[in-house]
Amino acid sequence: MTTVNTVLGTIDSSELGYTLVHEHVLSTSAGLKEVYPEFIDREGTAASATTHLKESNSEGVSSIIDMAPFDLGRDVLLLKEVSKNSKVNIITTTGSWLVPPREFVGTNPDLIAPLYVREVVEGIEGTGIKAGVIKLATDKEGITDRFESVSRAVARAQLETGVPILTHTFSPAFVGNEQVQIFKEEGVALNRVCIGHSNDTTNVDYLKGLLDQGVWLGLDHFPGSDPDWETRTLVIKQLIDQGYGNRIMLSHDFNMRQHRGNIEERTARWERNPDGYLFIKRHVLPRLIELGVSEKSATALNEENVKRFFEGS
Ligand SMILES: [Zn+2]
Repeated sequence: MTTVNTVLGTIDSSELGYTLVHEHVLSTSAGLKEVYPEFIDREGTAASATTHLKESNSEGVSSIIDMAPFDLGRDVLLLKEVSKNSKVNIITTTGSWLVPPREFVGTNPDLIAPLYVREVVEGIEGTGIKAGVIKLATDKEGITDRFESVSRAVARAQLETGVPILTHTFSPAFVGNEQVQIFKEEGVALNRVCIGHSNDTTNVDYLKGLLDQGVWLGLDHFPGSDPDWETRTLVIKQLIDQGYGNRIMLSHDFNMRQHRGNIEERTARWERNPDGYLFIKRHVLPRLIELGVSEKSATALNEENVKRFFEGS
């Protein structure tokens, strides 16, 4: 039995059900909601997220991980309200996205890790809402000086708290390898790590190289354009056929964000993916079954696998 922190309190890992491990309700920038709240359409975001999550829940989506840490403008009270009203479990994250505070750059990771630990153990911004996962993001440039301290701090917070790490990478440049290297140096058990955005490449050798070291892969960009979703689905099929189906998890990286400046972007986002958080359930899993994957193996990707990821098995 493993307990998982959600924004409404703890649940048992067996209660996660169908879970999307990398999504967004609201992502903005650190400080925006406090300083320029009128720029963000917080109510509109909450309303559309609640409506869409209710619909998703009626088709079987039980839990999502909202992957916005501090530097993506995390808003745990908004998540709490949306979770309560939609009946979907929402797990929030501590750790770091691509714009870690300048003060963290080059700082001893032992000064940063306790901040992340506190968000898992005590709660976030005095709300008592606890993070259930830790995020690390590094992009095209890899783990440069800018990201080294937060990377090591994420690893040390994992060792202290036991909650899993999910990452953002740029898989076409094989950035996952650099993250794995840091986690190894820090002594993190690699089965507690999910290397995310790994389906922006079709290089199966790179993916197997990561999996063979014991990490999980987040195939968490759907539908995606280059490669398209059908190609991404074929990669999943290949990995399942080669025995890696028990180490991958699927998600969309969809976003419900609304602000004054993004009306066109918002429309385009829904045009690209009218199914939102339901695209995988409606398209990817049925296609996998069409391709010959058993229903049990297809279902496991978002259910049994996520449960085992949290349990560390
Ligand atoms: Zn994301």
